[in-house]
Amino acid sequence: MNTNGHSRQVPFVDLAVQHQALETEINEVISKVLHRTNFILGDDVALFEQEFADFCETGYAVGADSGTSALELALRAYGIGPGDEVITVANTFIASALAISYTGATPVLVDIDPQTYNMDVSLIESAITPRTKAILPVHLYGQPADMDAILEIANQYELVVIEDACQAHGARYKGKRAGSIGHAAAFSFYPAKNLGACGDGGIVVTNDAQTAQSIRLMRNYGSTKKYEHMVQGFNRRLDTIQAAILRVKLRELENWNQARRRHAALYNQLLSDFDGSIILPTEADFAESVYHLFVVRTDDREALQAYLQQAGISTGIHYPIPVHLQPAYQNLGYQKGDFPITERYAEQILSLPMYPELTPDLIEAVVKAVGNYMIAHSPINASQPSV
Ligand SMILES: *Cc1c(COP(=O)(O)O)cnc(C)c1O
Repeated sequence: MNTNGHSRQVPFVDLAVQHQALETEINEVISKVLHRTNFILGDDVALFEQEFADFCETGYAVGADSGTSALELALRAYGIGPGDEVITVANTFIASALAISYTGATPVLVDIDPQTYNMDVSLIESAITPRTKAILPVHLYGQPADMDAILEIANQYELVVIEDACQAHGARYKGKRAGSIGHAAAFSFYPAKNLGACGDGGIVVTNDAQTAQSIRLMRNYGSTKKYEHMVQGFNRRLDTIQAAILRVKLRELENWNQARRRHAALYNQLLSDFDGSIILPTEADFAESVYHLFVVRTDDREALQAYLQQAGISTGIHYPIPVHLQPAYQNLGYQKGDFPITERYAEQILSLPMYPELTPDLIEAVVKAVGNYMIAHSPINASQPSV
């Protein structure tokens, strides 16, 4: 039963609201590209690359056609391929592992830290073998992984570190931008990401000129000069129209991220009333999260999610099936029980609505609905005969 008399619809994300505010500007830049017809590697691509590199405080950025491509190209730029192993985390979107597999290398998974839900750095060393070439930490939900600890191990074993920053545009680790810390990093511009295109897109950032040049070649058939091909590259370019739109949206990103942080603070404040039944996200001392997602944990997650859905509140689960239990990755030979924290959390996590245009009113509506669920399912209530 929905006891909330004036319940409000709260979507999980609301891109329509975001684009309404920018519609005139976006239409203008699209129209310019239409007239210039420089659809492939037009000026906006190079301009956006420079602006995004500046934003990330890195020397170089190279656009690609998706975040998955960006990850794969970054790995390839460091020569990672068949016979190699790359260590990543069991609790992530499948693309972190797929990018490794595409190169011919094998993903080796580790469990997560129970507080941050990111790679548990104390488990990395035992996952290293003579075949290990790289570590691929994921800054999940917008919070950077513990990069200093990861870099220390990487230096000791001479491993490459590729950051999966696909959910962490603008996040900071000890003051440094996510993506500026490892050898290279990949970002996704999937529409719902903190910085999203109106279609697919991605980018690699790095401080290494040679890496940037290598990715520039690979994304464009191995060519910088027309019909001259240095390597057997791919067609993995960022579209000019998407770059033009991303230039408009990048100017808003810092404000959007600050809004997400305010929303997270309000959620934390209001949800602290349910301490114990709703476990709130924690930000590590070293991290400034950009809250791509606001993820809580609770027992009876399915019941709460269904209740919220009925109350008009959309939620998500990121992610319901850990990488090692995906049918696609049975070949890795992992079993249920191999990553206990990831597996337990996969049954408890629930992502509440989170997007910059969310309002305090809407957040209160979400929290009120959570409260109503708690009342309806409290042990006292449950013991009473239904009428
Ligand atoms: C979105 C995402 C990707 C893949 O990005 P696409 O642009 O969808 O290819 C990779 N890793 C993580 C953690 C992501 O969230």
